[in-house]
Amino acid sequence: MTCSRPSRRPPQAPVHNRAMQTLTIRRPDDAHLHLREGAMLAAVLPASAAHFARAVVMPNLRPPVATVERALAYRREILAALPAGMSFDPRMALYLTEALVPSEVQRARDCPQVAGVKLYPARATTNSEAGVSDLGRADAVLAAMERCGLPLLVHGEVARPEVDAFDRERIFLEEVLVPLRARHPGLRIVLEHVTTREGIEFVRGDPGPTAASITAHHLLWNRNAMFVAPGGGAGLRPHHYCLPVLKREEHRRALLAAATSGNPRFFLGTDSAPHLRRDKESACGCAGCYTAPTALALYARAFEEAGALDRLGGFAAAHAAAFYGWDPNPGSLTLVRRAGNAPVAQDCDARVGDDVVAALGAGDSPWEVQSA
Ligand SMILES: [Zn+2]
Repeated sequence: MTCSRPSRRPPQAPVHNRAMQTLTIRRPDDAHLHLREGAMLAAVLPASAAHFARAVVMPNLRPPVATVERALAYRREILAALPAGMSFDPRMALYLTEALVPSEVQRARDCPQVAGVKLYPARATTNSEAGVSDLGRADAVLAAMERCGLPLLVHGEVARPEVDAFDRERIFLEEVLVPLRARHPGLRIVLEHVTTREGIEFVRGDPGPTAASITAHHLLWNRNAMFVAPGGGAGLRPHHYCLPVLKREEHRRALLAAATSGNPRFFLGTDSAPHLRRDKESACGCAGCYTAPTALALYARAFEEAGALDRLGGFAAAHAAAFYGWDPNPGSLTLVRRAGNAPVAQDCDARVGDDVVAALGAGDSPWEVQSA
């Protein structure tokens, strides 16, 4: 039945929807990004450049990016893969190997395109075989970094096989990070992709210059997400598998509280880590979530659910720049609320040869980035 009379709202109904429809922030930085090389690099780079002005690019290639010269060559490869008309400023991380020497630390500090040195405990994640197994052997390098202010970017997990996968960050804090801080009180440290309440507490309370990057997927999902089918029921979800692995709900809540607190020690780092679909959906699926095209919408959902959308701009576009001593980015980015259950406007997956890199979380947010 249709009714031609103009509808009248009952007096109790809200007269307008107070929910924000758009949100504009300064163009953000991604403080933790994996771009890979070759065809994969070319496939995933436009998604990052479309949303982020800068990113700290991780050095876990084969062979690892372990010298300033190699970092600058990798940076040139990235810029060569950037589509015409896009701008993007990659800031490089050197891979801490036992071959790194203090003179190279000073060279890195003098190079504005190098953001820091990345510590991968040996065998902790993708291509980390060259990582340091005894941090004591890197002490001269760490002292040089402490003197000149070059940050140490830490993958904070122990990789000993007897340690439970869900406890690796907590044990790392106790066994490695607390003693490291005691030996080097002035060392600038970023606890990358922090995933635990204990990690948050360390960063909050540490008297030294410490910060942490936080991913969108660790803000939105607890570890159940790996074991529950989209409609409920059981199902193994390889695209939610990353390292450090998703944790319990209490840890997710601690991350969300920290990210939305306005504390400048916490900032956006997607840890977007692309793998081909066939390498994720296999009998031995790779760790890593490809979130470059979806992360900002997912962060917006997390911040909105926490009632803190007004703090997204600081987390995404100010805190990392302040920690690294970068100028604020020019320009802005606008997120728009999607209409109803409309499909996301853009196809978020990246194509590589005859396979795709499937983006995690496309359609899982009421927000999307407004296309330019
Ligand atoms: Zn990473």
